[in-house]
Amino acid sequence: MKRYTLLIGGTAVETANHVDIRNPSTGDIVGAMPMATHADLNAAVEAATRAFATWKQKSSSELADACRAVAAKIEAHAEELAQLLTLEQGKPLNGLGSRFEIGGALAWTRHTAEIELPVEVLQDAPEGRVELHRKPIGVVASITPWNWPVMIACWHIIPAIRTGNTVIIKPSPMTPLSTIRLVELMNEVLPPGVVNVVTGENEIAAALTAHPGIAKITFTGSTATGKKVMASAVDTLKRLTLELGGNDAGIVLPDADPKAIAEGLFWGAFINNGQTCACLKRLYVHDSIYDAVCEHLAAYAANIPIGDGMAETSVLGPVQNRMQYEIVASFVEDAKSKGGRILAGGNPNGGPGYFYPITLVADIDHGAKLVDLEQFGPALPIIRYTDVEEAIRKANDNPAGLGGSVWGSDLARAKEVASRLECGSVWINKHGAIQPNAPFGGVKQSGIGVEFGADGLKEFTTIQTVFC
Ligand code: NAD
Repeated sequence: MKRYTLLIGGTAVETANHVDIRNPSTGDIVGAMPMATHADLNAAVEAATRAFATWKQKSSSELADACRAVAAKIEAHAEELAQLLTLEQGKPLNGLGSRFEIGGALAWTRHTAEIELPVEVLQDAPEGRVELHRKPIGVVASITPWNWPVMIACWHIIPAIRTGNTVIIKPSPMTPLSTIRLVELMNEVLPPGVVNVVTGENEIAAALTAHPGIAKITFTGSTATGKKVMASAVDTLKRLTLELGGNDAGIVLPDADPKAIAEGLFWGAFINNGQTCACLKRLYVHDSIYDAVCEHLAAYAANIPIGDGMAETSVLGPVQNRMQYEIVASFVEDAKSKGGRILAGGNPNGGPGYFYPITLVADIDHGAKLVDLEQFGPALPIIRYTDVEEAIRKANDNPAGLGGSVWGSDLARAKEVASRLECGSVWINKHGAIQPNAPFGGVKQSGIGVEFGADGLKEFTTIQTVFC
């Protein structure tokens, strides 16, 4: 069993203590996560601060070259990263699993390398010229979740270093190993201290976000933790990007074709076993086609091979951890007790592994946990409506506002309904399709700020307005 190390200032750092990381499919030990101390954390902040002094002076083309070099490393080690990711996260190698995730990490890295933030001339007149310059912020703390650990690490690290910042990443204690390996690879092509990794339980994450040497926090995780992170930023007014939980609604209009949309609805809801921030988590279907939509979704779900992530035949794997498994199971039991009708799944058949079947629950409404709260797992509530106004009102009746979708044949009508959804991204006849050139972020309690594209890059800069 491999004992992993921290990586601080370009050097592997041993720790006295470790925690075993287990494969969610089998319970087998994958490797040992190093437990960083507060002294390690201080050393990482010092290393990143030292590196910042020279990294911030790099030209845009030097920074772009560095990101391209990182992309080449990820590409050369894609299969190794995918296998490690599957072993600790559980998602299958195939389908929309680990190989897909590493491909995404690569695509985002490549795209972000090419984005420029040139000086903007706001005024060029006889009375004076006004220019807007963008500068790096300093040492960035990156805190990531366990659902898409490698891709999200790249979403944080690459824009930060592309704009001249240095980074300390603290991955989720559920899936730390693939991030450690990713940072090792990055350090083969980056100067020491530009990207550092510390690992441990939540306590070390809280110490990192509160550390006075951190200038910006980029956090992806639950809304509850995001609020703690925001509080920890107050003392030194750290800059923040918060990508938090979602409870995305999808509205199926009466003119939708139930058979044609079944596949899109399924993957909108069940990509990564529903453990995705912008998954379809509440489905509202018009009464006139309700039974047909339920029937086609259940038929599609019945043909999805679920199994050990390392098996090439698996298309979905287990839930990532016991806590999430128990949340999903308890929400489904609550739904049953409130009269929810199980169309598929609903009854896990015990271990080994945190396998929970794809579960579709019909005849359910607000007031059930599966509707009101974020399930973050393979269980979808399907809510019947008769009036589109009612569906819009219910879709918006939630503190979250990450994504949403509208499904129907009349594009203009679907777009009109979409425009009334309170969410940062909205899709027509698909759900959750993100891309590196389009800003992504939540409204309401799903977050602050955006990632991706030039708008996402700007979040890693401060502005200086020059009047001359
Ligand atoms: P989580 O909030 O439990 O943990 C996220 C990270 O925060 C982990 O690295 C954890 O160690 C760290 N952490 C815990 N306590 C902390 C504290 N007090 N201070 C600082 N950091 C702390 O989330 P999770 O269970 O790993 O991830 C699932 C959640 O993430 C879901 O709600 C999901 O919707 C959300 N998510 C959002 C997006 C998005 O882009 N909006 C993307 C992926 C996941």
